[in-house]
Amino acid sequence: MKYTEEIIDRAVAAYTGLAIGDALGATVEFLTPREIKLRYGVHRNIVGGGWLKLPAGAVTDDTQMSLALGNAIIKSQKVDRAIIAEAFSEWMRSKPVDIGNTVRRGLMHYRNTGKAEVAENEFDAGNGACMRSLPIALAMLGATEKQVRLASRLQSHVTHNNILADRGTECVVVMLQAAILGHSGDVLENIVRDLVQAEPLYHFTGTRVENPGGYIVETLQAVFQSFFAHDSFEASLLDVVNRGGDADTSGAILGMLAGARYGMASIPLRWKKSLQQSVLYACDTQARALLRLAPVAVVEDTG
Ligand code: MN
Ligand code: MN
Repeated sequence: MKYTEEIIDRAVAAYTGLAIGDALGATVEFLTPREIKLRYGVHRNIVGGGWLKLPAGAVTDDTQMSLALGNAIIKSQKVDRAIIAEAFSEWMRSKPVDIGNTVRRGLMHYRNTGKAEVAENEFDAGNGACMRSLPIALAMLGATEKQVRLASRLQSHVTHNNILADRGTECVVVMLQAAILGHSGDVLENIVRDLVQAEPLYHFTGTRVENPGGYIVETLQAVFQSFFAHDSFEASLLDVVNRGGDADTSGAILGMLAGARYGMASIPLRWKKSLQQSVLYACDTQARALLRLAPVAVVEDTG
């Protein structure tokens, strides 16, 4: 479908924001807010390092898995779990700098059984499917909400099959689409309100969440707090990564949402410059290609 320049700009900004949030947050992943303050004051520059000892401007699994998913959708022109599982498995073969336990377990299950869906598991409420969900939001733009949610579950269930995680991820996907289409902050808040109604654990107003871990409820509570407390890309991203914890992933999710909301011009130039330029280019290219194909078909089962 052909979209306006503004919509394309916000889609590109969402993808760029994801990578920038990942690269910025990775430096302080697993630090506490206190440790961050002692070391950096406010952590505000993409400098690499962290427990992964990243080169400055490098991204982690959050961005890499998104690009693998986006590439699989663009090549096949559909959302098909078998194709997605194979793309993730190929990514794992590339010896990534980081990989989550649930993701590894899900992909080993795929390699051992050929099944591109894990069984439902109450312990799979991690943020690992949500962090890579942006290509679904883009590829499914213009589809019915039912199809959007179905596509989100198919990609999630390759590694994470848990209703709490599904609902949180779908909320982020629906928010991304609304923001890209130019809907207001009120509309975005209502989407979160629906999530909290369905799953009261996601209630996010009140106590400030610090050190948000890999549990999707904590991650999204921190993301929603930062997202709704500020009115710029920079302020909201700085807020969430300086909370520490799983900072690359909370940064990635906040970055995609804030990019979608505020557009490319709102992303500080210093961050665009310090991100690996090949990643910046891939984000731009994929965002445009996914929008051109949207909405793609969703294949429920290929066996
Ligand atoms: Mn990561
Ligand atoms: Mn992480």
